Amino acid sequence: MSRFLTDRYKGLTPYVPGEQPADMTYIKLNTNESPYPPSPKVLEALDKTAVDRLNLYPDPTGARLREKAAALYGLKPDNVFLANGSDEALAFAFMAFCDDRRQAVFPDITYGFYPVYCALFNIPCIQIPLREDFTLRSEDYFGINKNIIIPNPNAPTGLALPLGDIEQMLQTNPGHVVLVDEAYVDFGGRSAVGLVGRYENLLVVHTFSKSRSMAGARLGFVFGNAALIRDIDMMRYSFNSYNVNRLTLLAGEAALSDAAYYKDMQQKIVAARDKAASGLKALGFAMTDSKANFLFVRHPDIAGGALYKALREKGILVRHFDKPRISDYLRITVGTPEQMDTLIAALRTILENRNNLRTP
Ligand SMILES: *Cc1c(COP(=O)(O)O)cnc(C)c1O
Repeated sequence: MSRFLTDRYKGLTPYVPGEQPADMTYIKLNTNESPYPPSPKVLEALDKTAVDRLNLYPDPTGARLREKAAALYGLKPDNVFLANGSDEALAFAFMAFCDDRRQAVFPDITYGFYPVYCALFNIPCIQIPLREDFTLRSEDYFGINKNIIIPNPNAPTGLALPLGDIEQMLQTNPGHVVLVDEAYVDFGGRSAVGLVGRYENLLVVHTFSKSRSMAGARLGFVFGNAALIRDIDMMRYSFNSYNVNRLTLLAGEAALSDAAYYKDMQQKIVAARDKAASGLKALGFAMTDSKANFLFVRHPDIAGGALYKALREKGILVRHFDKPRISDYLRITVGTPEQMDTLIAALRTILENRNNLRTP
């Protein structure tokens, strides 16, 4: 920290993204990316013409992509906001709708960026404990009269809420925003996008980083009532009006025109998840009922940190959160079937030699 940093940010603890090591020898199961490339249509769209036009700013309204995304869900383009990854969309939403009078509530175990945005924007946040088994008690949010941030499915637990519960949160908090972060919805959750026309306090956030194989392109969406979308857009125009670059706009349009490809990839990932879950259970692992592209697992005999290190030594990266309640768990991204077989073989070896793991 330099001596020039303002007092305001001296105590800030930033979000720590998962490792992205440069020596690509690891099997990367640590940041919930897709193991598959984007649709071939994306490569076609990023042609010489597209690159030659990089001298020009992108369309600041992203009109074509918003139109396409809106049509997909039976919405209007003014129900759609485009972001440089959904993290940026979340930041703008916290900025626009939360302050010390309009506080944010979210679960105690959830996506690590929410508390960071609260700290950055000086928003008091209330973290409501999940039950012992990590399920979310929806009643805790009914009539709470604060802005609600709900990832559905939740991360890193993978547990999904029924849409009816989201709807009750919307109905009992009419004076506040309910933001549903659906980063993992394509792997088994049910989307609240269809409710946008009925609730003026609903925001639904989607990302292209997980089920659409474009984490590297940085593209996120927010769906909501036109007035809410205008508010978020005001944040964007006050911060970075060209937030989504030209190549990403084109890639996004191409991706949206190949629904069949993504459906296929999503089905492959769900099948690999369920097969890996069985394999891990056979090795004695306990886990949540994940509806996401990751498994949240724990072994009764080995601490999460030790298991993380042992896997790393075998060239497999997974995510370990050294945080209360979940430090015994690992979050393992679902990769290809081959990667999952390698993971399970590595875990079997580690477990067979588990006595060596105990520190003397
Ligand atoms: C991955 C993730 C995001 C961020 O996605 P980007 O679009 O890559 O910024 C947001 N929310 C949750 C719950 C996530 O897991």
